[in-house]
Amino acid sequence: MASQKHKLATRLIHAGVQPDPTTGAIMTPIYQTSTYVQASPGDHKGYEYARTQNPTRDVLQASLANIENGKYALCFGSGMAATDAVAKLLMPGDEVIVSNDLYGGTYRIFTKVFANYGIKFQFIDMHDAENIRNYVTGKTKMIWIETPTNPLLNVIDIEACAAISKAHNLILVCDNTFASPYLQNPLDWGADIVLHSATKYLGGHSDVVHGALVMNDAGLEERLRFIQNSCGAVPGPHDCWLVLRGIKTLHVRMQRHCENGEAIARYLRAHPKVDKVRWVGFEDHPNHAIAKKQMRGFGGMISFTLKDDNIDAALKVLEKTELFALAESLGGVESLIGHPATMTHASIPREDRVKNGLVDSLIRLSVGIEDMDDLIADLAQAIG
Ligand SMILES: *Cc1c(COP(=O)(O)O)cnc(C)c1O
Repeated sequence: MASQKHKLATRLIHAGVQPDPTTGAIMTPIYQTSTYVQASPGDHKGYEYARTQNPTRDVLQASLANIENGKYALCFGSGMAATDAVAKLLMPGDEVIVSNDLYGGTYRIFTKVFANYGIKFQFIDMHDAENIRNYVTGKTKMIWIETPTNPLLNVIDIEACAAISKAHNLILVCDNTFASPYLQNPLDWGADIVLHSATKYLGGHSDVVHGALVMNDAGLEERLRFIQNSCGAVPGPHDCWLVLRGIKTLHVRMQRHCENGEAIARYLRAHPKVDKVRWVGFEDHPNHAIAKKQMRGFGGMISFTLKDDNIDAALKVLEKTELFALAESLGGVESLIGHPATMTHASIPREDRVKNGLVDSLIRLSVGIEDMDDLIADLAQAIG
């Protein structure tokens, strides 16, 4: 079994994984069971009921903790179920400071679900993390960031957020879905909880919906494990197995996502019909220095706007691509194209989204790991 002393590529394949003790099976079995037989009441092998513990899930949790440089991981039925569990740490009257450029579903659960329970969410610009200080009150309990952000690819300084969070005894949550542990480990920069939609890069094959939390603090793990078991949004063992299998190739996939992402970002930037291209790796990205500090590469997520900034012009491009499939989600081996204004971010009022740069012609690409030349040719014919 791999330990923290091994390099990431080794840990992605081996961390938490041991041959099955009963058969020697090299791959973790899918323990498809709801309960476990006890010799006498309470006399069991650590497994009582599968909402509480499942061996396949345990292996995935050990793997996730290791690859995020954390001590503990907890798995959930989706990224949103993981978000829901973290929000349940809060009480009526509490305040949360949230980055204003954020996954649409996260914005929705905060404003449409948890706001009804008397929790106040302040969505603010975190280009300069020091801005957070202006919003901390005696009631603030948590800072919630996503970096790079979805879909505008802004970068937030995790270390600077952690300094503010620690000074006020808050919990810093970092959604690391876009970067994946291959590019960034927020716990190393002082985050308290790392959140993943494993549906995306960790799973990597667009065949599973899954979420996870990783942390170092035993008290926080105990509270979140209590919520995981009490509320019950746990993943099934087959889904855990799919994520485990995905993780074994994360480094190989991410390397290609990064290479293809860079080539396409540079191609789009030179295109006469394209207005602005957002990609974390550009030297003139407003927070490129922070990206270079906290990330080991720049990934395959790109968004761009058209000089002809309207919904129809964007939809024409979306309908014409042949390899880039028009779909929500990201992080799979296949390339996807999406229109945040009418798809992932349709739940955000137009006025709010345009104010933050999420304009009508904004197109988001999740660059897959196909042949780079084929992908560029597809965009060329679609943009025209
Ligand atoms: C997809 C996504 C989520 C939600 O995860 P699900 O698995 O779809 O529930 C949260 N954050 C980010 C950044 C995402 O891309």
